[in-house]
Amino acid sequence: MFLKLKNQLLSLTILLPLCGLAGPFTIDVAFEAGMDEGYKSAFTNAVTFWETNITGYRAPANWGMNGITIDASVEYIDGQYGILGSAGPSYVTYGTTTLAGDSAASRVCYSTAGGMTFDSADVDMMIGNGTWEEVIRHEMAHVIGFGTLWGIDIGGNIYNDFYVDGSGEYTGAAGLAAYQAEFDPDATFVPVELGGGSGTANGHWDEVDGGAGLTGIATASGDDMRNELMTGWLNSPSFLSNTTLGQFYDLGYTVIPEPATVTMMAALAAGAFWIRRRISYMA
Ligand SMILES: [Zn+2]
Repeated sequence: MFLKLKNQLLSLTILLPLCGLAGPFTIDVAFEAGMDEGYKSAFTNAVTFWETNITGYRAPANWGMNGITIDASVEYIDGQYGILGSAGPSYVTYGTTTLAGDSAASRVCYSTAGGMTFDSADVDMMIGNGTWEEVIRHEMAHVIGFGTLWGIDIGGNIYNDFYVDGSGEYTGAAGLAAYQAEFDPDATFVPVELGGGSGTANGHWDEVDGGAGLTGIATASGDDMRNELMTGWLNSPSFLSNTTLGQFYDLGYTVIPEPATVTMMAALAAGAFWIRRRISYMA
């Protein structure tokens, strides 16, 4: 099965020592010219959603981190159903530092800009069935770094070193601690999707391929992992797990709730690692 990949050159920002304080985490969406006005409010709501859950940076102030600019567009991808959207970072800032809350230095890579594209053939359907904002939240998370900046190789060094492509095992400390607390106390890793092909595999939490059934992995309140916001197939209504928030902590952000129990892609030259989201049902 061949699917269109949205590739965009991933440019690198060389980290320079800067004076001044790191700002709060903010997201600015730059809409493509002419985007339907009726599409836009869901983006604004999704920005509020992530700005509420991600509050700032664990990097030192002299990194100058203050948010992400995201280009948003609607264009034809693959027709009705199938791929709903794709997204990823286009610029990153990276370096080696001891993040607030950590006891040792690590290689850290942040997204500073990126893009999200949604399939023009699906947008009205998503608005109609109430999933439009959920899909935007999902794609926005990929721009922020979910699944796109795990274990990324820059110049032969691995940054955000808590996932190896093909392993299916996410080992970031905060994400794993949250997963143990809410889904599986015996887990030694968070299961990562390996199905769905390039753009789905290695970039989402694991679920039954195609989003076809319950995983049997659920929170105490009965939320099955199938419906978690950051699995590869859309099942609505979705929920945001603390595991996903912990994952953002692992990426170097401060999040709400602050993890309490933390103790302690592919070659960049090939282009950006854009992530697709698929819909779990076919017409
Ligand atoms: Zn996705």
